Amino acid sequence: MLARPLLLLLALVPAARLPGAHGAPGPATLRPGDEREVTAAPAAPSTQGQLGEPVPEGGRLRLAEEKAAGGEARGTTKKAVRVKVVKKKVLKKKPKASGQGAATEQQPQCPPLGLESLRVSDFQLRASSIKRYGLGAHRGRLNIQSGIHDGDFYDGGWCAGHEDRDQWLEIDARRPTRFTGIITQGLNSIWTYDWVTSYKVQFSNDTHSWQPGRNGTEEVVFLGNKDPETPVLNALPTPVVARYIRINPQTWFENGTICLRAEILGCPLPDPNNIYSWENEPAVTDKLDFRHHNYKEMRKLMKEVNEECPNITRVYSIGKSYLGLKMYVMEISDNPGQHELGEPEFRYVAGMHGNEVLGRELLLNLMQYLCGEYTRGNPRVVRLVSETRIHLLPSMNPDGYETAYKLGSELVGWAMGRWTYEGIDLNHNFADLNTALWDAEDNELVPHKFPNHYLPIPEYYTFANATVAPETRAVIDWMQKFPFVLSANLHGGELVVTYPYDMTRTYWKAQELTPTPDDAIFRWLATVYATTNLAMVDDERRLCHYEDFTREGNIINGANWHTVPGSMNDFSYLHTNCFEVTVELSCDKFPHESELPREWENNKESLLVFMEQVRRGIKGVVRDKDTEQGIADAIIAVDGINHDVRTAFDGDYWRLLNPGEYEVTAAAEGYHPVTRTCRVSYEDNPTLCDFQLTKTPKQRLREILAKGGKIPKDLILRLRQLRLRKLRAQRQAQGGGLTPSGLCGDVEEGCALCGSRSLPHTLV
Ligand SMILES: [Zn+2]
Repeated sequence: MLARPLLLLLALVPAARLPGAHGAPGPATLRPGDEREVTAAPAAPSTQGQLGEPVPEGGRLRLAEEKAAGGEARGTTKKAVRVKVVKKKVLKKKPKASGQGAATEQQPQCPPLGLESLRVSDFQLRASSIKRYGLGAHRGRLNIQSGIHDGDFYDGGWCAGHEDRDQWLEIDARRPTRFTGIITQGLNSIWTYDWVTSYKVQFSNDTHSWQPGRNGTEEVVFLGNKDPETPVLNALPTPVVARYIRINPQTWFENGTICLRAEILGCPLPDPNNIYSWENEPAVTDKLDFRHHNYKEMRKLMKEVNEECPNITRVYSIGKSYLGLKMYVMEISDNPGQHELGEPEFRYVAGMHGNEVLGRELLLNLMQYLCGEYTRGNPRVVRLVSETRIHLLPSMNPDGYETAYKLGSELVGWAMGRWTYEGIDLNHNFADLNTALWDAEDNELVPHKFPNHYLPIPEYYTFANATVAPETRAVIDWMQKFPFVLSANLHGGELVVTYPYDMTRTYWKAQELTPTPDDAIFRWLATVYATTNLAMVDDERRLCHYEDFTREGNIINGANWHTVPGSMNDFSYLHTNCFEVTVELSCDKFPHESELPREWENNKESLLVFMEQVRRGIKGVVRDKDTEQGIADAIIAVDGINHDVRTAFDGDYWRLLNPGEYEVTAAAEGYHPVTRTCRVSYEDNPTLCDFQLTKTPKQRLREILAKGGKIPKDLILRLRQLRLRKLRAQRQAQGGGLTPSGLCGDVEEGCALCGSRSLPHTLV
């Protein structure tokens, strides 16, 4: 997910690129040590901007950039009441890039109720008062993102309608729950700064009588936030069992008002009277390793799958991250390590944004699942593995992931770990091939003078000092090495499937429908994933943040959402044969471990059925008619679609197409092109469309001459006939006789002959 708020976050990149004092990776938005005590004194200076400055005239409007650079408040706690403060969970950054994350040690036992994941519905959230509908209780969810327009229905948090200490946000857990902690964040907004600096909590079983949260006999005041974005966790001194919990703000940022986003940690207890039994977990039958895997654990799991299924798996690395973590790929095929003639290659890529972690776990689940089901003889999986060469890259940005993993699912916020260690957003880091193509198209040069596919990488991009991440280079090499046909790039933070182009054609537009020549099949591919994903098709579901993709079937043209120059999808489509879509898998970028079984169920069918789309369209082999040898690099052009594909090393090709009838032309250098009609049916099989190409006489002659061989009789005759035909045509056109130049200069095949060999020039 990128979306509007990241326009702000992009401005954080320079900060993100500065390694921490101890060489710790990632942006330094979190200053754990600063959070230990409440004082009236200004907070220690930090790398962040100053938010506590006088408000400019005309309200609290500030520039987006200003906010983006900001974070921590100065003197925010003047109003803070010095009551007994519970010792806070403090996040400590570790400089190590890998290793066991600290997340598990620091989090209380109970999982989040699901304000962020939307497991908690809008009806379970209430408030004492609201500022307006768009700032209602239902918006008080951790990491919720605001819409672009202030005052619309989709603002970035709950804001109370009054500024006093009687305001509260109430969460109904709908069953007896052992509450263990509260996480809060400020308001997500371009326009204002609002967060709660301290709060109390109350508990109830009936919403009438409320018990304050205590530490011993004293009522506890918890320390809240210091900036709008950094989540702050407070563990309850002792867990409390109740059904309802209220967050009751006591103090707030002095220039702001009472606004917050929250998540509640709690373990549901058995409830014999539970009338909400339909909300129980769906049965997850697959026994997979449902937890978050850091680098070492991921490597271990991949090794185990490989050991369990050595005949159909192979683990290889495509390169290293900036910090030297290997980018492992799991290959799954009936002949691992080999490209089989006619067998399409498929890839899933996850974790390009290190903090969008669900894709990584789903791919780890998928490899376990495929191995297990293949062994069990599940016919669908056996067919898939036998007919497809599958490559799974669970972590394209392993350095970013480790940063996010260390903070853990609830405290990572919205952006930590997104970028590489160098601060590069990998989804903007591929070469922009769109601009060159569109310039050539505007000048009507495509495809005659400028290719409509296999666009070359611009020179500037290949320079040693070009800002190209090692992770990007590794993926480009990988794309060039294997003849991938279809791919999906797994992200998180929304529920939608996007398809190319990702970049708007009008360069200054932030959003613009920008379809590819293959729009029809791309829409189909996106639809296949979206309509089989249980979370997307749930019509009870509410919006993740502020955009409604449900009306368009949960798919959207990437550029029509937000422009992304240098995206992996566009590069894949324009530089290789591979068609790639982006899947935004979940509202929550880093779902809690307890959500993983459900997320696997949500995505299992989609992941399988999307891979099976590699069978849609036509495939075949382009061969030399005489030698039967496959012809590499032959161009397959489909009439009416201004985007070609090419054959792989052995002459095999795959062309994704919707059902229909197509005029398909195979052309290769030195061969006469051949056109035939290929019909794509609705069957679950590609249509075979082989081509046999005949060498042009010129090519045959060239090859013979290169070998220093004798020119065979049939070739001499053929060349003569060609010359004759051309001359006759010329004579008819000119109405005149032959000229010496006409003998040689105008006959394509004759030129080489005239100059070098004494072939008879007799006209017979
Ligand atoms: Zn993303």
